[in-house]
This record gives sequence, structure tokens and C-alpha cells, in this order.
Amino acid sequence: MRHASLTQRALGIAPPWKVTEAEFDLFSSRLDVHIYFSPGSRFACPVCGAECPVHDIERKSWRQRDFFQYQAWLHARVPRVRCDIHGINEVATPWAKPGRGFTLLFIAECLLASSVFWVE
Ligand SMILES: [Zn+2]
Repeated sequence: MRHASLTQRALGIAPPWKVTEAEFDLFSSRLDVHIYFSPGSRFACPVCGAECPVHDIERKSWRQRDFFQYQAWLHARVPRVRCDIHGINEVATPWAKPGRGFTLLFIAECLLASSVFWVE
């Protein structure tokens, strides 16, 4: 299994999203995963759910939970859609809430770690 395919399965990334590259740098202790969507994909308007064409894209990065002792980051070109009713809006990604710099898994891990701290 190739690195991108293995990483895509481990992250639970499903079409139209796909992992295009996973870079592991031993010296900087980082794993950088790059995600994109298939050309021609349409996405739901985040307001009404109507399927809309892509208007443009924005590059974004999120801190992901660690990969063993290494920092992990997700990078994606996130589309903004043009809805006839609601105008131009950024689509939601399956791995993070809009406007946040952390993935849902990273936040869950932090919450779990903080609750363990308070129990001990
Ligand atoms: Zn809409």
C-alpha cells in the first residue's frame, strides 16, 4: 500500500477528498499530509446544502494529532462554493470545523488528555 493510500485510510478521508502526498521528515520530526479533491467535484453549500460548483480555493493547514512522537499537520486546498442563494462560502471539511486550526481528532485528544490529568 502506498503512503498516500495508507494515510488516506488511517485518516478516514473519503472521496471527493483524497490524500495526494504524505511527507515524513525525520529530522524535523514532522509528518505533513496534503489533501485535495477530485477535479470537477461539487460540494454542498454550508448554509442550505444545495450542491454547488467550486468558485475558488484557499490553502489551509491544521494541526493533527501526533503520529507517534512526530508532529502531524494536514494541508488542503479547501474550496469555496458559489450558491445562487447564499453567495460564496467555504465548504466544511470532514476533519475540522470551519475557522479552526486544529483537526477534530487533535481537539479530542487534547480533551481526553486534560480529563485524564484531572482524574489523576
Ligand atoms: Zn446555499
